[in-house]
Amino acid sequence: MNIRLSKASVGDEELAAVKEVFDMCYFGMGSRVQELEQRLRQYLGVGHVIAVNTGTSALHLALDALGIGPGDEVIVPSLTFVASFQAISATGARPVPCDVEPSTLLMDVDDLRRRISPRVRAIMPVHYTGNPCAMDEILSLAGQFGLRVVEDAAHALGSLYHGRKIGSFGDVVCFSFDGIKTITTGEGGAVVCFDRDLASLIQTKRLLGIDRDTEHRYRNTRTWLFAVHTQGYRYHMSNINAAIGLAQFDKIERFIARRQQICRDYVRLLRDLEGVQTLPIDYATTVPHIFVIRIRDFRDALARYLNANGIETGIHYVPNHLHPLYSRCGVTLPVTEAAYNEILTLPLHCDLTDDDVEHVVKSVKVGLRTVQTSRQLQ
Ligand SMILES: *Cc1c(COP(=O)(O)O)cnc(C)c1O
Repeated sequence: MNIRLSKASVGDEELAAVKEVFDMCYFGMGSRVQELEQRLRQYLGVGHVIAVNTGTSALHLALDALGIGPGDEVIVPSLTFVASFQAISATGARPVPCDVEPSTLLMDVDDLRRRISPRVRAIMPVHYTGNPCAMDEILSLAGQFGLRVVEDAAHALGSLYHGRKIGSFGDVVCFSFDGIKTITTGEGGAVVCFDRDLASLIQTKRLLGIDRDTEHRYRNTRTWLFAVHTQGYRYHMSNINAAIGLAQFDKIERFIARRQQICRDYVRLLRDLEGVQTLPIDYATTVPHIFVIRIRDFRDALARYLNANGIETGIHYVPNHLHPLYSRCGVTLPVTEAAYNEILTLPLHCDLTDDDVEHVVKSVKVGLRTVQTSRQLQ
């Protein structure tokens, strides 16, 4: 038995969609990309959608288009994928790591407020596990201090905050469609924003700063006459990836229901297990990307036991302020660092069966007993 931590759920539909693009033989940014953007926009109900080649590019592009660069600072929770930090430092700005709340492991708004300085230009909330951050408080702080808010919503496609989808409100919101996210395009991402001029700048920057070319490309043609006014990047999405995403969008409701069901089952089956805690998440409104538990003692020994028994686990994440590249500021974040010693991610993807989930939980229970007993004997 081998149970993977995360994986895409893809099949004949995605292959057929890719085949169509092969038959069309237009692999660049074409009509499929426009269709995917329309699909996401329809799903969210509002906003301008710009599809790109990765979630990391989406974050970088958003910050770049907001004019964030050298000398600027962006506040971001340390407990996130390194992509959030790299996207900030790629602009020349400095990521300012902030702590998380002890129960949810989401951005701590009080700590965020303390870190606002004249150099800070933006806040990057991360909807860790898919559970939305305190957006009302964060957006209101941003308004008060004149800051932009670029949400890292890589985990949170489909999640609701006060009844509204993440990506349907706010300032700028970035999604990822990499191979393990709620829906995949193979690799991909999207920026969502609500300002027409910003959207148009992001569109231009996505394609090497080439003005007016997007319209042509959506018709699967190109123009050779263009003017370049701004720094751009080759971050556009390919028709192949967009086609995969369109096939995935047809399955999104099933994916969401399955992910939520698996997490509810984990919570129920792990309840009352001494030394193991689950996060306080409402799976009626959160679409979970990862299932994180906290183990008071023997976390590493338990992870080794599970891995040795064919169950892949993860640790999300190494806090970024501990990476050599970002540790210069010498900040300590007590809640993040304490959590880092306890967190363990259990398998979560749509191809897990009920038996798989029960097997994982049983293995956690047996594993904990095994590592506790062997520790006591030492
Ligand atoms: C996946 C992810 C990203 C980046 O997305 P890619 O598409 O892999 O570049 C950014 N932030 C977080 C929290 C993620 O999990």
